Amino acid sequence: MEKKYKNCQSCGMPMKKDPKNGGTNSDGTKNLMYCSYCYENGDFTQPDMTVDEMKTLVKGKMKEMGFPGFLSGFFTKGIPGLERWKNA
Ligand SMILES: [Zn+2]
Repeated sequence: MEKKYKNCQSCGMPMKKDPKNGGTNSDGTKNLMYCSYCYENGDFTQPDMTVDEMKTLVKGKMKEMGFPGFLSGFFTKGIPGLERWKNA
């Protein structure tokens, strides 16, 4: 059985915040590891992105959404530990 993740394993966004409830595999099935922003049709939407670029992106997004800096800092610190970046 496929493991269920509470957060996207690329950007760290809570999966329940994803309007599509997950990315899609190349065969059209749901991918439960990554959100629809990061993963579509079996590929990362931004395959060349580095973990630092992801951190910057997420920090910017959280700022846009009105989160205080300490919270986005805390949140993005966890990104390198996600599945996508673990073996990088
Ligand atoms: Zn994501």
